[in-house]
Amino acid sequence: MNVLIVYAHPEPRSLNGALKDFAVQHLLAQGHAVQVSDLYAMNWKATLDGADRLDRDPAARFDASLDSRHAYEHGTQSADITAEQDKLRWADAVLFQFPLWWFSMPAIMKGWFERVYAYGFGYGVGEHSDRRWGDRYGEGMLAGKRAMLVVTTGGWDSHYEARGINGPLEDLLFPIQHGMLFYPGFEVLPPFAIHRTSRVDDARYTETTAALGQRLDGLWTQAPIPFRRQNSGDYLIPQLTLREDLAPGVTGFTAHTV
Ligand code: FAD
Repeated sequence: MNVLIVYAHPEPRSLNGALKDFAVQHLLAQGHAVQVSDLYAMNWKATLDGADRLDRDPAARFDASLDSRHAYEHGTQSADITAEQDKLRWADAVLFQFPLWWFSMPAIMKGWFERVYAYGFGYGVGEHSDRRWGDRYGEGMLAGKRAMLVVTTGGWDSHYEARGINGPLEDLLFPIQHGMLFYPGFEVLPPFAIHRTSRVDDARYTETTAALGQRLDGLWTQAPIPFRRQNSGDYLIPQLTLREDLAPGVTGFTAHTV
């Protein structure tokens, strides 16, 4: 199988750097092909702007969506965007690895999503009408592929539990896992999270790599998070609200898992 690791940490000698190197070696040893997009090492351009469309008239008003659609359809995207889209087409599974910074991914990785998920690739796919609201949330260009987050946090496990002060980790990651991964079609596996990173010593590092190795071995067999599919009949179209007879009384993120 082909595995892409999209990785964001500025320091190769970090915990994240060591875990990324471990994952690469482990996957290669199992016979998989691996590519890594090491965003800091690539000096990845994090900001979406007019330079992303190579044939843009600089005097014209920049439209983030329409310029993206034009560039994607006409082959005039910036080469770094096209290269990442090609890696996604190649991959059977994608790992996104990062330290939790201010309750989300580092800005450089957010910019990877903003730029690589072009109009016609990451969104704006399929029929958009009063009957059908596009191929998304379970359908889309990345359908059939699997994705998993590998996240490190400074906070403790308890800080991210159901009543922990930081909020439940699954809630914090919902915009990424549901909004950025499930949206274009990925099947999203439960995240691999390492909390309280300041307390990682050699013994805990060994335990962590053993657990990560098991998760990597299960990339193809683990059950994904059971997000509801938009076009499964669970949602009213075009309101896109969950049918009232499903999960009655349940609101918020949890309503969108079966
Ligand atoms: P490192 O600092 O590189 O390492 C952590 C520990 O692992 C160290 O003790 C180190 O000795 C050990 N280690 C590293 N490599 C190895 C190895 N090969 N073998 C054995 N031990 C090793 N945390 C939150 O919980 N929520 C937040 O919202 C949040 N926001 C942040 C925002 C910013 C801007 C920053 C800088 C930090 C934030 N943090 C937050 C903390 C952050 O999530 C952690 O600092 C980060 O996850 C640690 O990962 P690292 O790879 O940088 O670890």
